[in-house]
Amino acid sequence: MTTIGVLGLQGAIREHVRSIEACGKEAVVVKKPEQLEEVDGLILPGGESTTMRRLIDRYNFFEPLQQFGKAGKPIFGTCAGLILLASDIEGQNDAHLGLMDMTVARNAFGRQKESFEAPVEINGVAEDFEAVFIRAPYIQEVKADTEVLGVYDGKIVAAQQGHLLATAFHPELTDDHRLVQHFVEMVDQANGNKLASV
Ligand code: GLN
Repeated sequence: MTTIGVLGLQGAIREHVRSIEACGKEAVVVKKPEQLEEVDGLILPGGESTTMRRLIDRYNFFEPLQQFGKAGKPIFGTCAGLILLASDIEGQNDAHLGLMDMTVARNAFGRQKESFEAPVEINGVAEDFEAVFIRAPYIQEVKADTEVLGVYDGKIVAAQQGHLLATAFHPELTDDHRLVQHFVEMVDQANGNKLASV
């Protein structure tokens, strides 16, 4: 059985558990680095990226998370999770996990648009995904082989680089599970590849 973890330090954890379960997979709230060994893929939820980073360091998650990604295990970063994945953050010298080749801008939709919903076309996933943005970042630039999956208002809000997926919005806050389903398929595929190579 495919098991998908949700990093359980801070943010929209329960909502992701609900959407993983709605996609027919087992969800685990990951609160200790050892639990990463039990999961086939991991969601980094939305919340607040600097707080989450502080907790990642405090609970010794930094290296294990980087290794998880470098080992080819799928990771889906939503909102603050996208910021954690990025190789570059505008206006900051240091990024966080730096696993995904892209530059992100934080809180980039401006104060007047702290939180809003908008339909976004996600390539190969959904033509009209109702995306919930909350103090959302956007992707300023994709690099290397990171692919743009969705654009809103001229700004990149969804991208994928192989086994890494990122959205500036919160796909877990609606009953539309197509993006989480897309991630589940990435995890199944990575699992299938692993089994095939044994
Ligand atoms: N603006 C937040 C940050 O920088 C992200 C917001 C969110 O995850 N909804 O971490």
